[in-house]
Amino acid sequence: MLQSKLFYKTTKPSSAKTSEGQGENIAISHELLTSGGFVDQLMSGVYSFLPLGFSVLKNIENIIRKNMVDAGGQEILMPVLQPKENWLKTGRWNNLDILFKVKGGGDKEYALGPTHEEVVSPLVKKIILSYKDLPLSVFQIQTKFRDELRAKSGILRTREFLMKDLYSFHATQEDLDNYYDKMIKVYFNVFKELGIKKQTYLTLASGGSFSKYSHEFQMATDAGEDIIYICKKCSTAINKEIKSENPKCPECGSGNFEEKKAVEVGNIFKLGTNYSAPFELKFRDKDGSEKPVIMGCYGIGLSRVMGAAVEACHDERGIIWPEKIAPFKAHLIALGDDKKIKTTSQKIYQYLQKNNIQVLYDDRDDKSAGEKFADADLIGIPYRIIVSEKTLAKNSVELKKRNKKQAGLVKIKDLIKQFQISKS
Ligand SMILES: [Zn+2]
Repeated sequence: MLQSKLFYKTTKPSSAKTSEGQGENIAISHELLTSGGFVDQLMSGVYSFLPLGFSVLKNIENIIRKNMVDAGGQEILMPVLQPKENWLKTGRWNNLDILFKVKGGGDKEYALGPTHEEVVSPLVKKIILSYKDLPLSVFQIQTKFRDELRAKSGILRTREFLMKDLYSFHATQEDLDNYYDKMIKVYFNVFKELGIKKQTYLTLASGGSFSKYSHEFQMATDAGEDIIYICKKCSTAINKEIKSENPKCPECGSGNFEEKKAVEVGNIFKLGTNYSAPFELKFRDKDGSEKPVIMGCYGIGLSRVMGAAVEACHDERGIIWPEKIAPFKAHLIALGDDKKIKTTSQKIYQYLQKNNIQVLYDDRDDKSAGEKFADADLIGIPYRIIVSEKTLAKNSVELKKRNKKQAGLVKIKDLIKQFQISKS
C-alpha cells in the first residue's frame, strides 16, 4: 500500500476530550488508535474502522477463527435482529439492562442481539435429535449490541462491537466439563498468538447454578475497569465478586493477593440447561429417554482485544503491534527526493510484495524525515526499512524493529532473507 494513497490521517496524540468529556481518564488505546488513523469515533461507544484498523481486526478474526475451527467449531452466522418472544421466554427481555430494544412497524418489538442463546438454542433444536448428534459446537464472528450507559475507555467498552461467540452442546455434564477445560487451553493459545498472553490471567468468576465458577480471561492494564486479585502463591486470579464471597484463594487457601486493574478479553461459561430448558432443546439418549441438552458458551470481543493489545504493547511514541496482528509487516520509508532513492524504494516495494511481505510504503513527498518517523512510530508496524542516500552508498537499507532501539544495515539482496529468518 502506498501511504500517499492510504485512507487515514494521523493527528498528534493528546489527551483531547471526547464527546462525553472523559478527559483525564481516557484510555491510551483510544488515543493511539484514534490519532494513528485506525479508528474513528462516530459517537460514544461506536466506531468506524479505517483501513489500518480494519486490517488489524481481520488479522485478529483470522487467528480466532482458525483456533475455533481447530477446536471443532463450525462457523455460522445468526441474525442481529431477534424476536421479542424468544427473549421473553428466557426472562431476559425484562432482566438484561443492556439489551437494545427496537420498535418496528405496528409497534412490534425486537431485540438487537447482545449474545445469541435466544437464537442458537431454537436453531439447534431443529437439527439435534439424538445422542448421535452430540457433541456439537457452532460459532460466529459478528456485530453485537449492548446499551452500555457509560460507554467509555474507547474501544475497550463499546455499544456496538465485533465478537466471536461459540456455543457447545453436550449429552452429559462430563462431556461439557471436558470440552470446557479444552477451551481454556484454546483461549490461551489465541491470546498467545494475539501477543497478550503474558498479561492475561484466567480469573474465577461466579458460575451460576451449573458450576461453582465461570472463567474470565482478564488482561492486566491500568485502563481496565475491572479489578482482579492475583494469588501470590499460585497465580490464580479471582474477580471482585468472588473476593468478597471468599477472602482466601479458592485454589490454594492463601490470603495473599496482588490487586490489579484489568480488562476482560474473553469469558467462558457453563450454561447447563439454562437455555435448553425454556426452548425444550432435548435429545433422545441411548436408552430411548428424552434428556435436555447441556450447553456451554465461549466469547471473545475482537475490537476489545484490539484495544487491549494496544494497552499492552505501546511506548511513549506510539503503538508496537504484535507481529501477527500488525496491519503490515514492514514499513518502507524513502528519505529524500533523489531520483535513485525513489526508484530503489519503488523496486524494494515491488520486491517485498512479490514475496508476500505486507508493506506500507511511505512515498510521501511533502513530509520531512522527522514527520515520517513520528508517523511510523505512532502506527507501530513491526519492521521499518529506511532507504536514504547514506544507505544506498552501501547498497543497503536500514532495518529496525519497532520494539528495538538499534538499527542495522542490510544489503538489499538479503532483505527478503531477513524476513524469512524472522518468520521461523
Ligand atoms: Zn492460590
